Amino acid sequence: MLGLDPVGLLLLLVCTALSLLAAAGVKGTFARYAQVRSRNGVTGAQVAAAILRAHNIGDVSIEPVAGHLTDHYDPSTKTLRLSDSVYHSDSVAAVGVAAHEVGHAIQHAERYAPLQFRSAWVPIAGIGSNVGLTLVVLGLIISAGSHSTPVLAWIGLVLFAATTVFTLVTLPVEFDASRRALVTLGQSRVLTEDELAGARKVLTAAALTYVAAAATSLMYLAYWLMRILDAQRRD
Ligand SMILES: [Zn+2]
Repeated sequence: MLGLDPVGLLLLLVCTALSLLAAAGVKGTFARYAQVRSRNGVTGAQVAAAILRAHNIGDVSIEPVAGHLTDHYDPSTKTLRLSDSVYHSDSVAAVGVAAHEVGHAIQHAERYAPLQFRSAWVPIAGIGSNVGLTLVVLGLIISAGSHSTPVLAWIGLVLFAATTVFTLVTLPVEFDASRRALVTLGQSRVLTEDELAGARKVLTAAALTYVAAAATSLMYLAYWLMRILDAQRRD
């Protein structure tokens, strides 16, 4: 009774396809513009340092991190970690990604509200992603045919909704970091017009992975809400 119904199966396929497409998109676009060296010749790490200086941010350190597309800003230690293909590279892709990560450091320094909300929400979303769907499924099994409101399933759904909120608030944070990056790179003439277009493609592809994650979370939330309401109607 709790096996995957046709709607659930379709949802699983659509969401898997969405996230695979988005991941392939960012990998492909990054690989393409990692081959294009910027005329300025500055590396990702150098660009990051220069933008931080220009914003009078002196307490953020920049260090290399292992892996591919593992670049991130860690607000808890104020550290900008750039992967090898960004830190040491002067490609259009590297410069774009480095500037995007600095965008997060600037958001942090400016107490940008969506970033602050997102950081505060991390522990809540963490609980929801671990136990949310488990409680929904467990709650539906327990209450099946018992003529009672599936309370446990509802609690699970609320917890799962917390992870959906997290994926949604991630969107303005990511879009804003990319917007800041492209404005800074354009104004400072670190990249030329056509190089800037390449960097924009890389950052847009990266943003689409977050859009796919948010869409997936929203669709699952709607799906399990329907399943719970359906179970209540049958009782
Ligand atoms: Zn980001």
